[in-house]
Amino acid sequence: MAEVLVYVDHVDGAVRKPTLELLTLARRIGEPVAVHLGPNAEEAAKVLAEHGAVKVLAADAPEFTEYLVAPKVDALQAAYDAVSPAAVLLPSSAEGKEIGARLAVRIGSGIITDAVDLEAGDEGPVATQSVFAASYTTKSRVSKGTPVITVKPNSAAPEAAPAAGTVEPLAVTVADSSKGTKIVSRTPRESTGRPELTEAAIVVSGGRGVNGAENFPVIEALADSLGAAVGASRAAVDAGWYPHTNQVGQTGKSVSPQLYIAAGISGAIQHRAGMQTSKTIVAINKDAEAPIFDLVDYGVVGDLFDVVPALTDEVKSRKG
Ligand SMILES: Cc1cc2nc3c(=O)[nH]c(=O)nc-3n(C[C@H](O)[C@H](O)[C@H](O)COP(=O)(O)OP(=O)(O)OC[C@H]3O[C@@H](n4cnc5c(N)ncnc54)[C@H](O)[C@@H]3O)c2cc1C
Repeated sequence: MAEVLVYVDHVDGAVRKPTLELLTLARRIGEPVAVHLGPNAEEAAKVLAEHGAVKVLAADAPEFTEYLVAPKVDALQAAYDAVSPAAVLLPSSAEGKEIGARLAVRIGSGIITDAVDLEAGDEGPVATQSVFAASYTTKSRVSKGTPVITVKPNSAAPEAAPAAGTVEPLAVTVADSSKGTKIVSRTPRESTGRPELTEAAIVVSGGRGVNGAENFPVIEALADSLGAAVGASRAAVDAGWYPHTNQVGQTGKSVSPQLYIAAGISGAIQHRAGMQTSKTIVAINKDAEAPIFDLVDYGVVGDLFDVVPALTDEVKSRKG
Protein backbone atom coordinates (compact mmCIF):
# COMPACT_ATOMS: atom_id res chain seq x y z
CA MET A 1 0.00 0.00 0.00
CA ALA A 2 1.26 3.50 -0.78
CA GLU A 3 2.69 5.49 2.10
CA VAL A 4 1.30 8.88 3.07
CA LEU A 5 3.47 11.36 4.97
CA VAL A 6 1.80 13.08 7.90
CA TYR A 7 3.55 16.12 9.37
CA VAL A 8 3.24 15.99 13.17
CA ASP A 9 2.14 19.10 15.06
CA HIS A 10 3.21 18.74 18.68
CA VAL A 11 4.37 20.63 21.74
CA ASP A 12 7.53 18.99 23.13
CA GLY A 13 6.30 15.57 22.02
CA ALA A 14 2.65 16.04 23.08
CA VAL A 15 0.86 15.40 19.80
CA ARG A 16 -1.94 17.86 19.03
CA LYS A 17 -5.38 16.62 18.03
CA PRO A 18 -5.29 17.86 14.38
CA THR A 19 -2.43 15.43 13.73
CA LEU A 20 -4.55 12.51 14.96
CA GLU A 21 -7.28 13.67 12.59
CA LEU A 22 -4.73 13.70 9.75
CA LEU A 23 -3.68 10.13 10.56
CA THR A 24 -7.33 9.06 10.40
CA LEU A 25 -7.77 10.73 6.98
CA ALA A 26 -4.38 9.43 5.74
CA ARG A 27 -5.54 5.85 6.31
CA ARG A 28 -8.22 6.37 3.65
CA ILE A 29 -5.52 6.86 1.03
CA GLY A 30 -2.60 4.76 2.22
CA GLU A 31 -0.34 3.84 5.12
CA PRO A 32 0.45 6.82 7.37
CA VAL A 33 4.12 7.57 8.00
CA ALA A 34 4.50 10.33 10.60
CA VAL A 35 7.26 12.94 10.40
CA HIS A 36 8.20 14.15 13.88
CA LEU A 37 10.59 17.09 14.13
CA GLY A 38 11.88 18.14 17.53
CA PRO A 39 12.23 16.46 20.93
CA ASN A 40 10.50 13.46 22.52
CA ALA A 41 9.79 11.45 19.36
CA GLU A 42 9.57 8.21 21.35
CA GLU A 43 6.86 9.70 23.55
CA ALA A 44 4.95 11.03 20.53
CA ALA A 45 5.34 7.71 18.69
CA LYS A 46 3.12 5.93 21.23
CA VAL A 47 0.15 8.18 20.40
CA LEU A 48 0.97 8.23 16.68
CA ALA A 49 1.11 4.41 16.60
CA GLU A 50 -2.23 4.15 18.40
CA HIS A 51 -3.74 6.21 15.58
CA GLY A 52 -2.28 4.25 12.71
CA ALA A 53 1.28 5.46 12.05
CA VAL A 54 3.21 2.49 10.66
CA LYS A 55 6.46 4.39 11.02
CA VAL A 56 7.65 7.60 12.68
CA LEU A 57 10.52 9.37 10.93
CA ALA A 58 12.18 11.47 13.63
CA ALA A 59 14.74 14.25 13.52
CA ASP A 60 15.80 16.89 16.01
CA ALA A 61 18.10 19.81 15.35
CA PRO A 62 18.63 23.20 17.00
CA GLU A 63 17.84 24.85 13.65
CA PHE A 64 14.18 23.79 13.99
CA THR A 65 13.76 26.26 16.86
CA GLU A 66 16.43 28.82 15.94
CA TYR A 67 15.03 29.71 12.52
CA LEU A 68 11.63 30.15 10.93
CA VAL A 69 10.09 27.26 8.99
CA ALA A 70 12.71 26.61 6.26
CA PRO A 71 14.79 24.00 8.23
CA LYS A 72 11.58 22.06 8.84
CA VAL A 73 10.93 22.12 5.10
CA ASP A 74 14.43 20.64 4.59
CA ALA A 75 13.46 17.84 6.99
CA LEU A 76 10.08 17.18 5.40
CA GLN A 77 11.75 17.11 2.00
CA ALA A 78 14.27 14.55 3.35
CA ALA A 79 11.32 12.41 4.47
CA TYR A 80 9.70 12.85 1.07
CA ASP A 81 12.90 11.73 -0.68
CA ALA A 82 13.21 8.71 1.64
CA VAL A 83 9.62 7.51 1.24
CA SER A 84 8.33 8.67 -2.19
CA PRO A 85 4.84 9.00 -0.69
CA ALA A 86 1.47 9.04 -2.43
CA ALA A 87 0.60 12.29 -0.63
CA VAL A 88 1.85 14.65 2.07
CA LEU A 89 -0.65 15.86 4.69
CA LEU A 90 -0.16 18.77 7.08
CA PRO A 91 -2.43 20.59 9.52
CA SER A 92 -3.91 23.84 8.16
CA SER A 93 -2.19 26.04 10.73
CA ALA A 94 -0.25 29.10 9.53
CA GLU A 95 2.96 27.10 9.95
CA GLY A 96 1.54 23.95 8.33
CA LYS A 97 0.41 25.92 5.27
CA GLU A 98 3.77 27.65 4.89
CA ILE A 99 5.72 24.41 5.23
CA GLY A 100 3.35 22.68 2.80
CA ALA A 101 3.57 25.47 0.24
CA ARG A 102 7.37 25.59 0.37
CA LEU A 103 7.61 21.81 0.02
CA ALA A 104 5.21 21.83 -2.94
CA VAL A 105 7.33 24.45 -4.73
CA ARG A 106 10.52 22.47 -4.07
CA ILE A 107 9.15 19.14 -5.33
CA GLY A 108 7.19 20.69 -8.21
CA SER A 109 3.79 19.58 -6.90
CA GLY A 110 0.37 21.10 -6.62
CA ILE A 111 -1.00 22.00 -3.21
CA ILE A 112 -4.52 22.13 -1.76
CA THR A 113 -4.97 24.14 1.45
CA ASP A 114 -7.76 24.21 4.03
CA ALA A 115 -9.33 20.89 3.01
CA VAL A 116 -12.25 19.85 5.22
CA ASP A 117 -12.41 16.25 3.99
CA LEU A 118 -10.32 13.80 2.05
CA GLU A 119 -11.11 10.62 0.15
CA ALA A 120 -9.28 8.21 -2.11
CA GLY A 121 -9.80 8.72 -5.84
CA ASP A 122 -8.78 6.81 -8.99
CA GLU A 123 -6.28 9.52 -9.93
CA GLY A 124 -5.17 10.48 -6.43
CA PRO A 125 -6.74 11.84 -3.25
CA VAL A 126 -9.76 14.11 -3.62
CA ALA A 127 -9.99 17.02 -1.17
CA THR A 128 -13.16 18.85 -0.19
CA GLN A 129 -12.93 22.58 0.49
CA SER A 130 -15.51 25.07 1.71
CA VAL A 131 -14.98 28.28 -0.33
CA PHE A 132 -16.33 31.80 -1.01
CA ALA A 133 -17.35 32.44 2.59
CA ALA A 134 -18.51 28.81 2.76
CA SER A 135 -21.20 29.38 0.14
CA TYR A 136 -19.73 26.62 -2.09
CA THR A 137 -18.26 23.21 -1.43
CA THR A 138 -15.66 22.12 -3.97
CA LYS A 139 -13.83 18.87 -4.61
CA SER A 140 -10.35 19.02 -6.13
CA ARG A 141 -7.35 16.87 -6.72
CA VAL A 142 -3.76 17.76 -7.43
CA SER A 143 -2.98 17.14 -11.09
CA LYS A 144 0.80 17.63 -10.97
CA GLY A 145 3.30 15.81 -8.79
CA THR A 146 2.70 14.35 -5.33
CA PRO A 147 -0.34 15.98 -3.70
CA VAL A 148 0.48 18.21 -0.74
CA ILE A 149 -2.70 18.84 1.24
CA THR A 150 -3.33 20.87 4.39
CA VAL A 151 -6.42 19.93 6.38
CA LYS A 152 -8.40 22.13 8.77
CA PRO A 153 -8.74 21.05 12.40
CA ASN A 154 -11.94 19.16 13.30
CA SER A 155 -12.34 17.79 9.76
CA ALA A 156 -12.43 14.21 11.03
CA ALA A 157 -12.92 12.48 14.36
CA PRO A 158 -9.62 10.82 15.36
CA GLU A 159 -10.01 7.04 15.34
CA ALA A 160 -7.69 4.57 17.04
CA ALA A 161 -6.15 1.99 14.68
CA PRO A 162 -3.07 0.52 16.34
CA ALA A 163 -0.02 0.13 14.09
CA ALA A 164 3.70 -0.47 14.63
CA GLY A 165 4.78 3.18 14.90
CA THR A 166 8.43 2.20 14.70
CA VAL A 167 10.69 5.21 15.24
CA GLU A 168 13.36 5.59 12.55
CA PRO A 169 15.93 8.37 12.53
CA LEU A 170 15.62 10.80 9.65
CA ALA A 171 18.90 12.26 8.38
CA VAL A 172 18.48 15.98 7.73
CA THR A 173 20.95 18.48 6.30
CA VAL A 174 19.81 22.03 6.94
CA ALA A 175 20.80 24.15 3.95
CA ASP A 176 22.50 27.52 4.49
CA SER A 177 19.74 29.08 2.45
CA SER A 178 17.27 27.88 5.11
CA LYS A 179 18.97 29.97 7.78
CA GLY A 180 17.96 33.33 6.34
CA THR A 181 15.55 34.30 9.12
CA LYS A 182 16.63 33.80 12.72
CA ILE A 183 14.24 33.92 15.67
CA VAL A 184 15.61 36.52 18.09
CA SER A 185 13.10 36.25 20.95
CA ARG A 186 10.03 34.38 22.09
CA THR A 187 7.27 35.57 24.40
CA PRO A 188 4.86 32.85 25.51
CA ARG A 189 1.22 33.87 25.28
CA GLU A 190 -0.52 33.94 28.63
CA SER A 191 -2.58 30.79 28.86
CA THR A 192 -6.31 31.18 29.46
CA GLY A 193 -6.56 27.50 30.34
CA ARG A 194 -9.16 27.16 27.58
CA PRO A 195 -8.72 25.04 24.46
CA GLU A 196 -7.25 26.57 21.31
CA LEU A 197 -10.08 28.23 19.34
CA THR A 198 -9.51 26.45 16.03
CA GLU A 199 -9.16 23.02 17.66
CA ALA A 200 -11.88 23.21 20.30
CA ALA A 201 -14.78 20.75 20.17
CA ILE A 202 -17.09 23.45 21.57
CA VAL A 203 -16.94 27.20 20.92
CA VAL A 204 -19.06 29.84 22.68
CA SER A 205 -18.96 33.22 20.91
CA GLY A 206 -20.23 36.63 21.88
CA GLY A 207 -21.11 39.55 19.63
CA ARG A 208 -22.23 43.16 19.84
CA GLY A 209 -25.16 41.99 21.95
CA VAL A 210 -22.72 41.34 24.81
CA ASN A 211 -22.53 45.11 25.05
CA GLY A 212 -19.11 45.68 26.63
CA ALA A 213 -15.87 43.99 27.66
CA GLU A 214 -17.14 43.94 31.24
CA ASN A 215 -19.92 41.53 30.19
CA PHE A 216 -17.74 38.97 28.37
CA PRO A 217 -17.29 36.96 31.63
CA VAL A 218 -20.92 35.86 31.05
CA ILE A 219 -19.76 34.18 27.79
CA GLU A 220 -16.57 32.87 29.43
CA ALA A 221 -18.54 31.28 32.27
CA LEU A 222 -20.66 29.28 29.83
CA ALA A 223 -17.53 28.33 27.87
CA ASP A 224 -15.78 27.16 31.05
CA SER A 225 -18.77 25.10 32.15
CA LEU A 226 -18.58 23.27 28.80
CA GLY A 227 -14.76 23.13 28.51
CA ALA A 228 -15.11 25.33 25.42
CA ALA A 229 -13.07 28.02 23.69
CA VAL A 230 -14.35 31.60 23.53
CA GLY A 231 -14.95 33.32 20.19
CA ALA A 232 -16.13 36.80 19.26
CA SER A 233 -17.68 38.57 16.30
CA ARG A 234 -15.75 41.32 14.58
CA ALA A 235 -18.11 43.91 16.03
CA ALA A 236 -17.10 42.80 19.54
CA VAL A 237 -13.40 42.72 18.60
CA ASP A 238 -13.47 46.10 16.83
CA ALA A 239 -15.10 47.61 19.90
CA GLY A 240 -12.09 46.40 21.91
CA TRP A 241 -14.17 44.02 24.05
CA TYR A 242 -12.22 40.87 23.16
CA PRO A 243 -8.82 40.16 21.50
CA HIS A 244 -8.52 39.83 17.73
CA THR A 245 -7.02 36.34 18.22
CA ASN A 246 -10.53 35.24 19.22
CA GLN A 247 -12.34 36.68 16.19
CA VAL A 248 -14.35 34.13 14.22
CA GLY A 249 -15.08 34.80 10.57
CA GLN A 250 -13.76 35.75 7.18
CA THR A 251 -11.06 38.04 8.58
CA GLY A 252 -10.67 36.04 11.78
CA LYS A 253 -10.35 32.34 12.44
CA SER A 254 -12.32 29.51 10.90
CA VAL A 255 -13.74 27.08 13.37
CA SER A 256 -15.56 23.83 12.79
CA PRO A 257 -16.41 22.48 16.26
CA GLN A 258 -18.96 19.86 17.21
CA LEU A 259 -20.99 22.62 18.90
CA TYR A 260 -20.99 26.38 18.20
CA ILE A 261 -23.01 28.68 20.46
CA ALA A 262 -23.48 32.26 19.19
CA ALA A 263 -24.80 34.77 21.73
CA GLY A 264 -25.76 38.28 20.63
CA ILE A 265 -24.46 37.71 17.09
CA SER A 266 -26.66 38.63 14.10
CA GLY A 267 -25.16 36.12 11.64
CA ALA A 268 -23.56 38.35 8.98
CA ILE A 269 -22.12 36.46 5.98
CA GLN A 270 -18.57 37.32 7.09
CA HIS A 271 -19.20 35.75 10.50
CA ARG A 272 -20.86 32.68 8.98
CA ALA A 273 -17.81 32.17 6.78
CA GLY A 274 -15.82 31.21 9.86
CA MET A 275 -18.30 28.95 11.61
CA GLN A 276 -20.98 27.54 9.37
CA THR A 277 -19.28 24.17 8.97
CA SER A 278 -19.78 23.62 12.73
CA LYS A 279 -21.66 20.37 13.35
CA THR A 280 -24.39 21.77 15.65
CA ILE A 281 -25.13 25.49 15.82
CA VAL A 282 -27.07 27.17 18.62
CA ALA A 283 -27.94 30.88 18.66
CA ILE A 284 -29.23 33.09 21.42
CA ASN A 285 -30.59 36.40 20.13
CA LYS A 286 -33.36 38.70 21.28
CA ASP A 287 -34.41 39.46 17.69
CA ALA A 288 -36.45 36.57 16.26
CA GLU A 289 -35.70 37.90 12.74
CA ALA A 290 -31.89 37.80 13.15
CA PRO A 291 -30.34 36.07 10.10
CA ILE A 292 -28.37 33.69 12.35
CA PHE A 293 -31.62 31.81 12.96
CA ASP A 294 -31.62 30.70 9.28
CA LEU A 295 -28.50 28.71 10.01
CA VAL A 296 -29.05 27.18 13.40
CA ASP A 297 -29.96 23.73 14.63
CA TYR A 298 -31.39 25.24 17.84
CA GLY A 299 -32.36 28.86 18.40
CA VAL A 300 -33.33 30.66 21.57
CA VAL A 301 -35.14 33.99 21.18
CA GLY A 302 -34.30 35.85 24.35
CA ASP A 303 -31.98 38.20 26.19
CA LEU A 304 -28.54 36.62 26.43
CA PHE A 305 -28.14 38.03 29.94
CA ASP A 306 -31.05 35.82 31.04
CA VAL A 307 -30.42 32.81 28.81
CA VAL A 308 -26.63 32.38 29.03
CA PRO A 309 -26.34 32.38 32.86
CA ALA A 310 -29.34 30.03 33.08
CA LEU A 311 -27.66 27.71 30.59
CA THR A 312 -24.39 27.87 32.52
CA ASP A 313 -26.18 26.97 35.77
CA GLU A 314 -27.97 24.10 34.06
CA VAL A 315 -24.74 22.70 32.59
CA LYS A 316 -23.03 22.94 35.98
CA SER A 317 -25.92 21.28 37.81
CA ARG A 318 -26.01 18.40 35.30
CA LYS A 319 -22.30 17.86 35.72
CA GLY A 320 -22.98 17.61 39.44
C1 LIG B 1 -14.51 42.63 4.63
C2 LIG B 1 -15.26 42.30 5.91
C3 LIG B 1 -14.78 41.30 6.71
C4 LIG B 1 -15.47 40.97 7.89
N1 LIG B 1 -14.99 39.95 8.67
C5 LIG B 1 -15.70 39.57 9.75
C6 LIG B 1 -15.28 38.48 10.56
O1 LIG B 1 -14.23 37.86 10.34
N2 LIG B 1 -16.06 38.13 11.61
C7 LIG B 1 -17.22 38.80 11.94
O2 LIG B 1 -17.88 38.41 12.92
N3 LIG B 1 -17.62 39.83 11.20
C8 LIG B 1 -16.88 40.25 10.15
N4 LIG B 1 -17.30 41.35 9.44
C9 LIG B 1 -18.38 42.20 9.99
C10 LIG B 1 -19.76 41.67 9.72
O3 LIG B 1 -20.23 42.18 8.50
C11 LIG B 1 -20.72 42.13 10.84
O4 LIG B 1 -20.66 43.54 10.94
C12 LIG B 1 -20.40 41.56 12.21
O5 LIG B 1 -20.27 40.16 12.13
C13 LIG B 1 -21.52 41.91 13.18
O6 LIG B 1 -21.21 41.43 14.45
P1 LIG B 1 -22.38 41.10 15.46
O7 LIG B 1 -23.25 40.04 14.90
O8 LIG B 1 -21.76 40.86 16.79
O9 LIG B 1 -23.13 42.51 15.58
P2 LIG B 1 -24.56 42.97 15.04
O10 LIG B 1 -24.72 42.66 13.59
O11 LIG B 1 -24.76 44.34 15.50
O12 LIG B 1 -25.55 41.99 15.81
C14 LIG B 1 -25.73 42.01 17.20
C15 LIG B 1 -26.87 41.06 17.50
O13 LIG B 1 -27.01 40.95 18.90
C16 LIG B 1 -28.40 40.88 19.20
N5 LIG B 1 -28.55 41.35 20.59
C17 LIG B 1 -28.34 42.59 21.08
N6 LIG B 1 -28.50 42.60 22.41
C18 LIG B 1 -28.82 41.32 22.77
C19 LIG B 1 -29.11 40.67 24.00
N7 LIG B 1 -29.08 41.36 25.17
N8 LIG B 1 -29.40 39.37 24.00
C20 LIG B 1 -29.45 38.67 22.84
N9 LIG B 1 -29.18 39.22 21.63
C21 LIG B 1 -28.86 40.53 21.61
C22 LIG B 1 -29.08 41.78 18.19
O14 LIG B 1 -30.43 41.39 18.01
C23 LIG B 1 -28.22 41.51 16.94
O15 LIG B 1 -28.77 40.45 16.16
C24 LIG B 1 -16.62 41.69 8.26
C25 LIG B 1 -17.10 42.71 7.42
C26 LIG B 1 -16.42 43.01 6.27
C27 LIG B 1 -16.97 44.11 5.40
